[in-house]
Amino acid sequence: MSPTAWIPPPGPGIDAYRVVVGDRTIDELFRLAAPMKGKRLQHVNATRAGGGVAEILNRAVPLMAELGLDVSWDVLRGEDEFYAVTKKFHNAIQGDPIEITSTDLEIFLKWNRINEKEIDLHGDFVIIHDPQPCAMIETKRATSRRPSGPGQKFIWRCHIDAANPNRRLWNFLSTYIQRYDGSLFSAPQFTGVLPIPQYLVAPSIDPLSDKNKPLTEEQVSAVCERHGIDMKRPILTQVSRYDRFKDPVGVVETYRMVKQTNDCQLVLAGGGASDDPEGMEVLAEVREAAGNDPDIHVLMLPNGAHIEINALQRASTVVIQKSLKEGFGLTVSEALWKGKPVIGGATGGIPLQILNGVNGYLVNSPEGAAFRTRFLLNHPEVAQEMGRRGIEQVRQNFLTTRKLRDYLMIMNATTTSDRTITLK
Ligand code: UDP
Repeated sequence: MSPTAWIPPPGPGIDAYRVVVGDRTIDELFRLAAPMKGKRLQHVNATRAGGGVAEILNRAVPLMAELGLDVSWDVLRGEDEFYAVTKKFHNAIQGDPIEITSTDLEIFLKWNRINEKEIDLHGDFVIIHDPQPCAMIETKRATSRRPSGPGQKFIWRCHIDAANPNRRLWNFLSTYIQRYDGSLFSAPQFTGVLPIPQYLVAPSIDPLSDKNKPLTEEQVSAVCERHGIDMKRPILTQVSRYDRFKDPVGVVETYRMVKQTNDCQLVLAGGGASDDPEGMEVLAEVREAAGNDPDIHVLMLPNGAHIEINALQRASTVVIQKSLKEGFGLTVSEALWKGKPVIGGATGGIPLQILNGVNGYLVNSPEGAAFRTRFLLNHPEVAQEMGRRGIEQVRQNFLTTRKLRDYLMIMNATTTSDRTITLK
């Protein structure tokens, strides 16, 4: 283990997941992990806390250790100049028209080289998350000639929307990415033309975390009471950062259209925007759109309000995620897991989760969202059935255990050129 490595504290053990996903799923994890026992699995990313990647690694690392892997997690070091460049990279990969300069590329390489000296990339499997550390492979693999057979395996995991990346930047990053033994993307439209194996691994939610674990009715009603939400009347909810791509004002429009025919309340729950000037701006726009309608609850929640969000999702009649652009949209899986029909924007990773007309509806406008919401309010038996299907859709596809299986399968796949895996 490198001296910089960090191991998060263990949460619920792997056996606790048996009641959620069944013995077969957990037994399969142990079978897939068996050939990997004692192998050093090293994750490298840019941050230990905050953001989805850290969230995911905090749970995945202890669970992989329990499965017998010698797992560790290293976090990059950098100064403001590096983070300013990597933020630019992030936005440019997601399609913002930003100019990337030669100085940006130099700063990026400088910090990758510093980190490469300080973090010993010793793992049998090294998973490098996102663009920030992707050039650390430079000294391990001088060219894109990838050795076959045994030896260290390097995998690049892309968590962001790379459907329309800035070409100059992508070409630059590709010179490093193609030295890896494989790459992982969250959705098919994010994959690009790369001369290395590409695997799809969707993000996942943890059914035993505070955000998703079962709550008592008292816990749910206490949260609603605190916010003046009436549980006896229909509740429409969107949980999101105050970000224009999440279209909160479009959700208010949707609510107003529905309200013309159906009694209902709207809850918009978001947070973490206090240090983000645009977030505060969007929050102000939402408050203005909401006016003084007592049935619209615009909530600003502190970071870590997991149980509160869990309770609001559970109290909802219909959950909305009317995004205009979305990487994956974890909030969709979170709501489906709580047995709620979800009306979501037909964008990014949302159509992976919402099967139109099966566990919710995909929409492209406030009118479409209002039409579907009204239907669900008027047909509670359909809403309930959709909710049941949603739980199964998430159980099969979007829980932590599936992601662990995917990682183990890929580790096996990258080492199987000289042997066959036998699963009993
Ligand atoms: N979330 C939260 N507090 C908030 C708003 C969102 O904890 O005030 C959580 C939400 O429950 C989900 C994640 O942050 O787990 C957001 O992930 P998603 O993929 O939906 O959107 P992103 O914010 O990454 O664009």
